[in-house]
Amino acid sequence: MVRQFGKQNTLISLICGLILVLALLVAIDARHPHFYMNGEQTLQAEQGQPFEDPGVYAVLSGRIFGDSDRRLPVETSGTVDTSIAGDYVLSYRTHFFFRDYVCRRTVEVRDRTAPVIVLFQRENYQVNWLDGYDEEGYRAEDNIDGDLTAQVRSEETADGIVYTVSDRAGNSTAVLRRPNYTVARPEIYLTGGSELYVKADFNFGDPGYLAVDRLGNDMTAYVLCDGKVIPYRTGTYELGYSITNAVGQTVRAVRTVTVEPQQIPGTIEPEEKTIYLTFDDGPGPDTERLLDVLDKYDVKATFFVTASQPRYFPMIARAFEAGHKIGVHTYSHDYNRIYESEEAFFEDFLRMQDVILRQTGSYTDILRFPGGSSNTVSSFSPGIMTRLTDEVRSLGYQYFDWNVLSGDAGETTHTSEVVQNVIEGIEGLPEGKAAVVLQHDSKRFSIDAVEKIIQWGLENGYTFRSLDRTSPPAHLAVVN
Ligand code: ZN
Repeated sequence: MVRQFGKQNTLISLICGLILVLALLVAIDARHPHFYMNGEQTLQAEQGQPFEDPGVYAVLSGRIFGDSDRRLPVETSGTVDTSIAGDYVLSYRTHFFFRDYVCRRTVEVRDRTAPVIVLFQRENYQVNWLDGYDEEGYRAEDNIDGDLTAQVRSEETADGIVYTVSDRAGNSTAVLRRPNYTVARPEIYLTGGSELYVKADFNFGDPGYLAVDRLGNDMTAYVLCDGKVIPYRTGTYELGYSITNAVGQTVRAVRTVTVEPQQIPGTIEPEEKTIYLTFDDGPGPDTERLLDVLDKYDVKATFFVTASQPRYFPMIARAFEAGHKIGVHTYSHDYNRIYESEEAFFEDFLRMQDVILRQTGSYTDILRFPGGSSNTVSSFSPGIMTRLTDEVRSLGYQYFDWNVLSGDAGETTHTSEVVQNVIEGIEGLPEGKAAVVLQHDSKRFSIDAVEKIIQWGLENGYTFRSLDRTSPPAHLAVVN
């Protein structure tokens, strides 16, 4: 009895255990419908073309037992209208165990087809680019937008004529026509490149250019140049080189030229009690006597020379050989001429440099403006002194004014007053400031004062020096 009861009990336990295991397996397996898509989840469809849904299928699937062979019924909803561009959604639905299961896909209907351009051709038509190309005609068609001929744009390039058109969806087409050229569109080549950097100078020489078409025709003679470089004014200039044909098509190359300043050394303050004697407007009949006086005391001075009395030019050579400094003053000393323009000023300046070169064997690197940089005699050319003072320094020259006036330019004609003016002027300078004295060796009474000035200076511990580019320039304020 006990045994039988025990047997029965074991059987029930076994069945219960089996059911439990089965239930556990079903729970772990978690069977549910699973969708398989044919094709990508997002599909691309071409506007205006038929679209066929590749569809999906669904099977029951679980973790343990995997997919079943039997397919579940699937219902599709949603439409795709390929005549209108847009994003369409297709939904796929199936049913299992009182529940709906859904998956979706997007179909992107777009116009991705570019228009087509057809070029017409005339028989035996030969083209000279200089005369211009006579359009032979074309047609443009788009599968969605229809006739786009009116929207075609054509452009001459080095390779030929490029026709382009786009449809409303942004698909574009480019077609190249190579007409039967005898003379083709040229290319302009700039010798030295399209960017030049030069130092300020009196002249700018264009390194040149060349125009050739792809058939090898030399068309350089047709190039027109525009733009201008002011070689002594720092800055960036644009030069254009172009050929324009009979129908107004232009081939153009551009060169930028940057004029940079020359290096100019900085000012070095001389030792205290320094006097720079400077003499303008010579050489003249009295210059020789002045040189004798300077020699006698072994004093060095500076001569800003002119060409007003050419027979005394050899005095420039003598002064240079004696160790004095020669600077440009002016060739003509004609204010109305030299201050008419910068070109006129530099023409006069270079003429005087040539005189100096012949007398000394070299050009000078200093100058004094006629009337000084603060002159008002140039006011008929507004702004010219501002420009010239910049430009001469860009060219590498230092210009000098003065801080001690002798008065020999008109205030006095007496030697004793010249001596007095210079001594008082020097003594009136701030402590330690070097004196740059203005005299004219074209004036005898002024030259007669020099010996006394030197004697006074030497007795009072002064040193006389000639100017160079590092000397204090004693610049006055430009007032133009
Ligand atoms: Zn002068």
